[in-house]
Amino acid sequence: MTQASLGESVVQKIVHVQQNNGVSASATHTQPLWLLAEVTYRCPLHCAFCYNPTDYDKHTQNELTTEQWIQALRDARKLGAIQLGISGGEPLLRDDIEDIVIEAKKLGYYSNLITSGVGLTEKRIQAFKEGGLDHIQLSMHDITEEINNFITNTKTFELKKKVAAMIKNHGYPMVLNVVIHRYNIGHMREILEMAEALGADYIELANTQYYGWSLVNRSQLMPTKEQVDEAEAITNEFRANPNNKMKIFFVVPDYFSDRPKKCMNGWGEVFMIVTANGDVLPCHSARSLPNMQFPNVRDSGLEYAWKESPAFNKYRGDSWMKEPCRSCSEKENDLGGCRCQAFLLSGDADVADPVCSKSPFRHLIDQAIEDSKNPVMVAKPIVFRNDKNSKKIIAGEFNDRVESFHSLP
Ligand code: SF4
Ligand code: SF4
Repeated sequence: MTQASLGESVVQKIVHVQQNNGVSASATHTQPLWLLAEVTYRCPLHCAFCYNPTDYDKHTQNELTTEQWIQALRDARKLGAIQLGISGGEPLLRDDIEDIVIEAKKLGYYSNLITSGVGLTEKRIQAFKEGGLDHIQLSMHDITEEINNFITNTKTFELKKKVAAMIKNHGYPMVLNVVIHRYNIGHMREILEMAEALGADYIELANTQYYGWSLVNRSQLMPTKEQVDEAEAITNEFRANPNNKMKIFFVVPDYFSDRPKKCMNGWGEVFMIVTANGDVLPCHSARSLPNMQFPNVRDSGLEYAWKESPAFNKYRGDSWMKEPCRSCSEKENDLGGCRCQAFLLSGDADVADPVCSKSPFRHLIDQAIEDSKNPVMVAKPIVFRNDKNSKKIIAGEFNDRVESFHSLP
């Protein structure tokens, strides 16, 4: 799956769904509103920024069956979930997405297929329409074939344009997700013009967040602050033009901010992710945290996972916080930021997100920003997301990549 904004924009979408889809749910902080079904980790693309775990190869052999997914959908709906994301990997590599869509419709979900477009045929999109799929989000990468093909390590540029047209022809709102990084940030105006010309209703410009594969490739992907500022200015200018009807969501990269994001809108507050092999997670990267056991739908139901499992309760609220978060007057705003980012950069999952200027580890972010000004000095070859590289990562082959960002000796 691509790097969707899993913060404010998603919450806005949920509110929109509640208002416009007639799905009943009262938004409390004790129920998951969003179920993200990462139905497979298999993918024909090899994006350098992929959000999937770098060790995904461990989890590809044991995918849930159609029946198990349907049971998960039913259980999550009972808990209050109203929005379903069908994601991966590339979900269309499974041939049962049509069945999952039909069940989602029956249960009253607002369903969203998150796809690279590979595998979307006329026959399948027709079946999705008849089955009641509400929304398709397509990832695009650039206006140039060269960058599209480079960053995904595939030849998919023309196919994506055809799929965009197919989505539009079938009457779906066209929602594009473009992950922004050093290779395409200079093309912001052209990307927006391309999206407008394709008839996009909504575009999400998701600045790369550095987890998983994108952390491994950070030295290649991270733009400078000046590039990000310029990209945002171009976006605002485009938005201000009354001739442009497309809605634009620009996801600000947290490295360039002095406060972290309220990650996933709070750990175990509104999001529940079920992975290809049935693990139940509060966020995509949670399995990177040490000493944590996540529940699995094969062993226990989603109700146990959400309400009782130690993993979902571990970072709920603020009782786990250390200083400076514990006594911070702003803690309600961000809940200390992202636990995975805290761990990946500091080696301690319980500290303030290093993005925060009050964090004793902020210098790690400042160093990354400094390094982004000298890409030729620091850049290492891209490690593309593929099975071979995932096996190498499991074997510890690229440890130096991420350890070099740590503050630990
Ligand atoms: S490789 Fe690309 S298309 Fe495939 S799951 Fe990762 S980000 Fe999505
Ligand atoms: S110290 Fe912690 S709670 Fe306060 S603003 Fe920083 S991350 Fe948020």
